[in-house]
Amino acid sequence: MWAALAAIGKDPSTGGYHRGGWTPTEREATHWFIDQCASRGLAVESDGLGNLVAWWDPAASGQSSAAVLSVPGAVESTGVPSVPGVVTGSHLDSVIDGGAFDGPLGVVSALAAVDRLRAEGFSPSVPIGVGAFVEEEGSRFGMPCLGSRVAVGVLQAEKALALKDRAGVSLADALSSVGTDPAGVGPSPLLDRMGTFVELHVEQGRALTAPVGVASSIWPHGRFRFTFSGEANHAGTTLMEDRHDPMLTYAMTALAANKQARLAGARATFGRLSVEPNGINAVPSQVTAWLDARAATDEVLRSLLAAITRQATERAERDGTSVDVVAESVSPIVDFQPGLRDRLAGVLDDAPVLPTGAGHDAGVFSDAGIPTAMLFVRNPTGVSHSPAEYAEMDDCLVGVDALAAVLKDLAR
Ligand SMILES: [Zn+2]
Repeated sequence: MWAALAAIGKDPSTGGYHRGGWTPTEREATHWFIDQCASRGLAVESDGLGNLVAWWDPAASGQSSAAVLSVPGAVESTGVPSVPGVVTGSHLDSVIDGGAFDGPLGVVSALAAVDRLRAEGFSPSVPIGVGAFVEEEGSRFGMPCLGSRVAVGVLQAEKALALKDRAGVSLADALSSVGTDPAGVGPSPLLDRMGTFVELHVEQGRALTAPVGVASSIWPHGRFRFTFSGEANHAGTTLMEDRHDPMLTYAMTALAANKQARLAGARATFGRLSVEPNGINAVPSQVTAWLDARAATDEVLRSLLAAITRQATERAERDGTSVDVVAESVSPIVDFQPGLRDRLAGVLDDAPVLPTGAGHDAGVFSDAGIPTAMLFVRNPTGVSHSPAEYAEMDDCLVGVDALAAVLKDLAR
């Protein structure tokens, strides 16, 4: 499975992956998933946006000859369980120039865990589902966890469909182009059958020193748009003291963000920038910069943003510029259900329990009231969202064992 999936969406020149939602590479990975489920006789169910869950339900009729979707968007009822089950899985899309493991590891491990349980002759007393959720990274439409947010209803269909990618293509048009009717987008019927959700994921830092760990929480996360406005002017004739250069205000703000995050034990990153008029020989008129900020608690995140904004504002006064800060999205802390978390850690012989600074569909489902847990597989370098993202095969196999043990416990 790993070898087949490894080639899809990989740029041979960088080794990085790009599978944006509803792009040909992401569709290829999705069809790979559907084929894998079909070969196992799992009944694949899709919601209107294209989130998928493939069911293993010994009690459902028609399971052995499960019909499988060819076009995501239609709902297939054959083999779909009538009672809630345990769903595991992750996502197949990637960031731009991403790694092989973020997302696919959880999907491949879920299928491998089902194979292992079947080989052992285990028969679940509740259905087990393998899920693949669309546009988790938000790399195409700028909205992380797009699929799960629409599924639980915190992102309304109308707003989601109006989102545009960098080329100006709306989500509605992107769906139409792959044969999915935008009218079907909305809260997902898949969730009616998701009694519990467990997502296995590669760890995205260096905190996990054992092969497998259990998540305690997801750090609060905010995306903030800083607009620095000044005055465009000639780079050769404008005296340095006459300038109102928003690039300087931005530059100092980026340094301040780094310092404030270090002081707070938090994270702050300016990773995207847009400059007007973006000419080599012009003092810019405007710089728009996006801050990604995360911290251990909601309070630390709030005070981090306040400190960065204060320093930006003070610098703007000196530069004769202005700064405007807009919160594009703020996700509060996700504390995974303690009972479920401790149960998993117990099943896994007291596996380490640790928080993560990365967002996941698991956080969205947890916020929606679905009992949710996460397993992490060790990342020896801590590098993620990069072609260098890596996990040892031995650790990945321990991850499959752990997931199988957890599913067995939850679906006993
Ligand atoms: Zn991920």
